[in-house]
Amino acid sequence: MSKKSVDPSKGIGVKSSKIVKQENLGKRIGTAVVHAGEEINPQTRGVVSPIDFSTTFAYKTAKEWAEVFYHGKDGFAYSRHGNPTRSIFEKKIAILENGEAGIGFSSGMAAISSAIFTYLETGDEIVITDRCYPGTRHLLNQYLKRWGFKVHFVNAANIDSVSEKINDRTKIVYMECPANPTLSLCDIEATVKLAKEVDAKYFFDNTFASPINQQPLDFGADVIIHSVTKYLGGHSDVLGGAIVSSAEDRAEIMNTTVYYGGVMAPFDAWLTIRGIKTLELRIQRHNLNSLALAEFLQDHPKVREVYHPGLKSHPQYALAKKQMKGFGGMVSFCVGKTDTDGGTFLNALKIVKRASSLGSVESLAQASGSMIYLEFSEEEKQAIGINPGFIRFSTGIEDKDDLIEDVDQALSRI
Ligand SMILES: *Cc1c(COP(=O)(O)O)cnc(C)c1O
Repeated sequence: MSKKSVDPSKGIGVKSSKIVKQENLGKRIGTAVVHAGEEINPQTRGVVSPIDFSTTFAYKTAKEWAEVFYHGKDGFAYSRHGNPTRSIFEKKIAILENGEAGIGFSSGMAAISSAIFTYLETGDEIVITDRCYPGTRHLLNQYLKRWGFKVHFVNAANIDSVSEKINDRTKIVYMECPANPTLSLCDIEATVKLAKEVDAKYFFDNTFASPINQQPLDFGADVIIHSVTKYLGGHSDVLGGAIVSSAEDRAEIMNTTVYYGGVMAPFDAWLTIRGIKTLELRIQRHNLNSLALAEFLQDHPKVREVYHPGLKSHPQYALAKKQMKGFGGMVSFCVGKTDTDGGTFLNALKIVKRASSLGSVESLAQASGSMIYLEFSEEEKQAIGINPGFIRFSTGIEDKDDLIEDVDQALSRI
């Protein structure tokens, strides 16, 4: 635990959160996605969890209200601090990540900023993978540095480059994989060990894998971060974020969250609860589709490179097999010889949509040079492995043969 940890009792109206446990969930995650966090509504017997839009909750006496708001008694007082529908989502995601407790946020970035600012004071240092989500990189470069935190970006695929930057001032080690956009990995167990040696918190952004494919808490991670907007929501209709951690870390991060204010709205929580019920089914299909597409691309004469952790040609295939249960729905590749070829390919796709984001039921693709990395110099692009004609592809849950045929006809145009 961080030495400068906040006293959970100081956050007004923030309970030191209880540990989430639930009976009768079955042993397997495909069952837990349906039932975790949910109960039959005792008043109506409805099997679907209701949406509670209340921002404020009234009690018979002032004392009862104060017991909930100030003294951690079970219940709700004000929705920034806790809301019944958000609470169901929080229980669900905590169980799926094998954690004790969760928090729902209004976006992935709200989760990231609230969690980071919980543990840092001026002069502290953070060691973070240089393949992190671009929004995270921007937050650290623009704001953390401005406030006197030291940020070390490291190549997390190389364990020595991580250990070199870790010292007694390191308060957070922040990892993320498979990493955007070349799907490189970091060794979770080995990097957790480095963080523990200096008593730093280990953060892991598990958005790309989802808890179906990877559960970093099992390797000793402290704080799991999600952009709910991607696989957990799964339908491109919710912007949200989540963290999962121990109950103690949850209480500390909730203290920050209550005052930063970026909590998840009840309707977004409900859509996410609904989306998660099919998470395991969807991820199975994403895993199959992306591997089938990667294998097709690998043998195609107009494709130069294919990046997918489930291909034996991936330099970290052995590590992927060790820490992942499935390889995820993302595949990246380079087509033709130039970014112009990449653009031609992208514009020729018929089923696949040209759009940012990922992890949804519909397939989405982007090309470097025309949609992404426009602000990067050639050298910067090469440093993170973005070669000419680079395509980032999020496979949806469509029929894989239709996706392959669409990609094939678009490749024939270059
Ligand atoms: C999208 C994304 C985020 C940011 O999430 P928002 O919901 O857009 O705020 C963070 N990390 C990863 C890996 C992402 O893909």
